[in-house]
Amino acid sequence: MGKVYLVGAGPGTVDLLTLRAARLLARADVVFHDALVDDEVLALAPQARKVAVGKRCGRLSTAQQFINRQLVDAAQRHACVVRLKGGDPMLFGRAQEEIAALSGAGIEVEVVPGISAAFGASAALGQSLTRRGVSRSVAFLTPAVGQGEQPHAWADAARGADTVVLYMASRQAQAIADGLVAAGLPASRPAVLVENASRPDQRVLPTTVAGLPAAAGELGDGPALILVGEVYAELVQDACRVALQDRGLRAAAA
Ligand code: SAH
Repeated sequence: MGKVYLVGAGPGTVDLLTLRAARLLARADVVFHDALVDDEVLALAPQARKVAVGKRCGRLSTAQQFINRQLVDAAQRHACVVRLKGGDPMLFGRAQEEIAALSGAGIEVEVVPGISAAFGASAALGQSLTRRGVSRSVAFLTPAVGQGEQPHAWADAARGADTVVLYMASRQAQAIADGLVAAGLPASRPAVLVENASRPDQRVLPTTVAGLPAAAGELGDGPALILVGEVYAELVQDACRVALQDRGLRAAAA
């Protein structure tokens, strides 16, 4: 009986993988990966059979139960099975369901942490999620719910934290902005959209809660986070200043 490693692949760039992840990939017999995992990361496991079990909204996806069964089957046939997940496996990655299925089948599981998108984005922004006197708490939230689940009262949690990071939310920016305002956040609270954090095609769109729907309209189809909080005030002010200067320059040129 083999062992299954639930491995965090980080936010996308190969050199943000942990050394432990790279070493496991180098000796993996099979690698199950989701859609957010980069080819360069997969290239670290040249000998392994690669199985895409991707899950991206609106695209081809594999039912979780089927993934669980494939993991169990693979562990019964191979010594080293790697289940690669974007970011950190223990955040919005359905890791618990896979751990339960494997443990239930008597298969050993080990989790290898990864850099979650929130940390990739924070590094890219040069803005700490916490700051003395401004932010002492961070909430990682998602408005996404599974099929048949009741809508979740995610906005209540947003009210309780100084800085809020929303995963799987950028495609419903209008509902997010409405939810945040209904929960009592000021519409003028600074917000930033970060698409493809840490990747070469990274994009940063500073705005406010009220400006989220318009800003989200400029996003491509890469994964994106919404970050909200006073810690982003300078970033948003700087972006406004640049936009005003641009407009001034265009007006002067016209
Ligand atoms: N376990 C992952 C999150 C999986 S949920 C982690 O820890 O990062 C998938 C969501 O993560 C996407 O919808 C998006 O909101 C976010 N995400 C993943 N990679 C990202 C990246 N490189 N840049 C911005 N957001 C990203």
